[in-house]
Amino acid sequence: MTVDTIIEGGRVVSGDQSFEGAVAIDDGTIVGLGDRDRLPDAERTIDASGKVVMPGIIDPHVHIDDHVSIDTYETATKAAALGGVTTVIDFAWQAYDGEGSAWDENGTLMEGIERKRDKATDALVDYSFHGGILREGDDLFDEMEDVVDAGVTSFKMYTAYDFGLSNGYIHRVLEELSELGAVGVGHTEEDTVCEQVTADLREEGHGPSVYPQSRPDYTEAMAADNVARMARELDAKYYGIHTSCRKSAEAIERHQADGSTIRGETCTHYTSLTGDLHEEMGNLPRIAPPLRTEDDIEALFDALTSDVLSVVSTDHVAQKRRKKEESNWWEGPFGANGLQVSLPVFHDEAVNERGLSYRFLSQVMSRNPAETFGLPQKGTLEPGTDADIVVFDPDVEQTISAANNASNADYSIYEGRSVRGAVDTTIVRGEVVARDGAVVGNPGHGAFVERELPDWSN
Ligand SMILES: [Zn+2]
Repeated sequence: MTVDTIIEGGRVVSGDQSFEGAVAIDDGTIVGLGDRDRLPDAERTIDASGKVVMPGIIDPHVHIDDHVSIDTYETATKAAALGGVTTVIDFAWQAYDGEGSAWDENGTLMEGIERKRDKATDALVDYSFHGGILREGDDLFDEMEDVVDAGVTSFKMYTAYDFGLSNGYIHRVLEELSELGAVGVGHTEEDTVCEQVTADLREEGHGPSVYPQSRPDYTEAMAADNVARMARELDAKYYGIHTSCRKSAEAIERHQADGSTIRGETCTHYTSLTGDLHEEMGNLPRIAPPLRTEDDIEALFDALTSDVLSVVSTDHVAQKRRKKEESNWWEGPFGANGLQVSLPVFHDEAVNERGLSYRFLSQVMSRNPAETFGLPQKGTLEPGTDADIVVFDPDVEQTISAANNASNADYSIYEGRSVRGAVDTTIVRGEVVARDGAVVGNPGHGAFVERELPDWSN
């Protein structure tokens, strides 16, 4: 027997194991794992000597081609491929008619899924969606089961902005999620307090360096507590996204006390940057929740290593510098791009700086997002699963620059940062999509992944 590909000579690491050996791939699937001499011959050999061979990164929080982000599927997934990311979960939005809306009439989540699937035909890596609930309608409850059947088994809710939902409506969604076994995904900031503090600061007239003060850490914790508390009471699966601070992580932890259905993520930028960056970069790093403090970074690493938070994502958003630097910076768009550099930056922080293991890295960036969101074919190197793999060179030094961006975003919040470690090769279902810093995959190779209802019992 001869297989398509063998990756040999490297350290093979997943969330569950770490050994010197090889991976055999055939027809897009992992077919063997272990000593090279025990695996079959291959048509192609990838030499991973001195490198780490891991399951591809799964980023469950990205924004592509919509009112939030100017990336197309091609540009975003080229950035993903270069960043070792083999699956992304984007958002399929429910259209709403209202202030600041990108739509002029109400629509359904099923229409949102169709809209995104049409946009995603040029993807290079695999993709899925969260259903994004943007208005309080009865009609949602007529379609949630269909949405789950369409492979979209998680639903995003905001507590802030014009499209934020009331606690009463979130409660109703969580009741339905509990019935269905699907996952609630929450962006939690206490809207009325943020609005009040923001109005005061705007009145006083300041530069962007005051931005982190306008959305204080305790407002994030207040809303995180509300939603996690309701989910716990209702026995609904709940995933708090982009946890940025100690207080918010503590709020999530409080509701995990009974081993309940409460999980959380943080993002690479919250583990590596602080609000001081606004002094240097003005409005460019303005995201919500804001970048916080060194103490918060410590708390987030504690939360990740104790499994209070179990995932590291990017919340990737592409915008132009020009838009960010408009004269009234308060009106500029939120968000920062990170898909292309998330793995090398988080690796540098977690492994190089803090001595955490590659298994830990693979857990929070591959295994845990796959298990949390119902992707049994992803996030593992088990034979029979998809051959989604990143070969990572831990010794290459690189300096991050937006000049290398594949994304449509023309700046980087990591600009000028030197990190040790770089993506060598990215493989999606057996196809090499990026190699040595160049995209070699074809648009259209990426496929929509229908997700299962996840099992959170273990
Ligand atoms: Zn987001």
